[in-house]
Amino acid sequence: MKSEKGRAGVKEREVARISKANVMLWRNFTLLSAAIILVLALVSYFLLGGAFYSQTKKRVNDIGEEIYSVVSDGALGAAEKEQTVNDYIVSRGVSVFVFDEEGNAVLPHFLALPESWGEIVRSARENSGDWQEGKRAQFNLGEEASATYNFVACVDYGGRECRLLVRYPLSHLSGSVHRMQLYVLVIAAAAIIFTFFVSYLMANKLSQPLRDMSNTAKKLAGGDYSVEFTSTQYSEIADLSTALNYMKDEMKKSGDFQKELLANVSHDLKTPLTMIKAYASMVREISGDDPEKRNKHLQVIIDESDRLTGLVDDVLSASKINSGLSQLNKKVFNITEYLYGVINKFDYLTETQGYNIMVDVDPNLYTFADEEKIGQVFYNLISNAVNYTGEDKSVYISLKYSAEDNRIKFAVRDTGKGISEEELAHIWDRYYRSKDTHTRPIKGTGLGLNIVKAILQSHSFEFGVKSEEGYGSTFYVDLPAVDGVR
Ligand code: ADP
Repeated sequence: MKSEKGRAGVKEREVARISKANVMLWRNFTLLSAAIILVLALVSYFLLGGAFYSQTKKRVNDIGEEIYSVVSDGALGAAEKEQTVNDYIVSRGVSVFVFDEEGNAVLPHFLALPESWGEIVRSARENSGDWQEGKRAQFNLGEEASATYNFVACVDYGGRECRLLVRYPLSHLSGSVHRMQLYVLVIAAAAIIFTFFVSYLMANKLSQPLRDMSNTAKKLAGGDYSVEFTSTQYSEIADLSTALNYMKDEMKKSGDFQKELLANVSHDLKTPLTMIKAYASMVREISGDDPEKRNKHLQVIIDESDRLTGLVDDVLSASKINSGLSQLNKKVFNITEYLYGVINKFDYLTETQGYNIMVDVDPNLYTFADEEKIGQVFYNLISNAVNYTGEDKSVYISLKYSAEDNRIKFAVRDTGKGISEEELAHIWDRYYRSKDTHTRPIKGTGLGLNIVKAILQSHSFEFGVKSEEGYGSTFYVDLPAVDGVR
């Protein structure tokens, strides 16, 4: 009860975390872009004022220099100079004055003197110092709205020591700077709002495939194997989709296999059990007193019990080997002797049912492997050969040493109808059984070759089958040879 509850809690928390991840993506996108936009906006906000100011200074200085060269030009007449200065005043938005050492304005004649003329003259003198031809200076004057940037130069004007003053009102500048700064802030705010929505769309788009997958997985968990993981928006998700589809197919296969196994096993269990019951009843009711008949009937019971044991053993070892529970117990052993031991188990077939088992085995070969498991490989391969061999009931077994590569080659050949190309790909699969009806009731469960494969793969031994339809099959295993002297 408690663990069920606990699991539900974990699930809820996971869901909460997933939906948070979605929102988190959105929040982080928005925060990151808002931070970048704000930094850019603030930097341009503060840089704008400074940049405009230094540009204005440069412009006023340039104008000052130009006017200075006109005013100080001895070749120009007073009227010409005045005309040029007037042009500058009108076209460049600056005020221009030339005044003498007493502070009397000598040029231009049409411009009214500003109210604080006395202070202006004083500042111009202070900043440019004692008169000296060509000496220049710059200074700011006044506060806030009445602030001006001033260019002053000492100039010889018609033989008099005068000073040229070019003034530019900074209020013009701050007006446009403030306007620009406002634009920057408005654009930044608009960009942040825009990224807020775009981030929402992006976060949604990025997490959509995950939501799709989660929905598909829920359906799959409900047992619907027809679902398909189709998200391919970006490569990681496409990979995940492929992996999940693969997992789904494997789950389906495994589910089908389990069902098939259950059907096979129950069918295979039923026949011997029915036989055992029937023969036991016969012993009790008919043959109990006739030793010959009784023995025959009891033998059937014994055979059928062996068959049951074999079946159960197969199922157990397949599940053990495939789930990796069984460990390899490798050692050096005489594989020739061991193979003979396995072949002897088939004596009852040769003696009572006309089978021919032809053996071509090199003496005293030694290998390094798990003796019992390799014995099981031999047993499964030989019993398949016996089960599927042709009318002549012949099976050929060979175990040969190959000096070339110092390996031992095991092969078992039958004369049956072989295995089709199509079937070859599946015979090593768990629970695979040929759909054909077999000539002889076969004890198998479709696990034999899967056990062989699992054992040989865990040893890293090469193995395989060559088969030609109509002529039979040869199963082979390649084992390492070791020096037998221990
Ligand atoms: P089973 O218990 O059905 O024999 P196996 O795993 O041993 O299961 O074999 C799987 C299938 O491979 C068999 O059902 C049969 O169709 C095919 N097969 C195995 N050995 C041979 C063989 N020697 N000749 C023909 N077909 C074979």
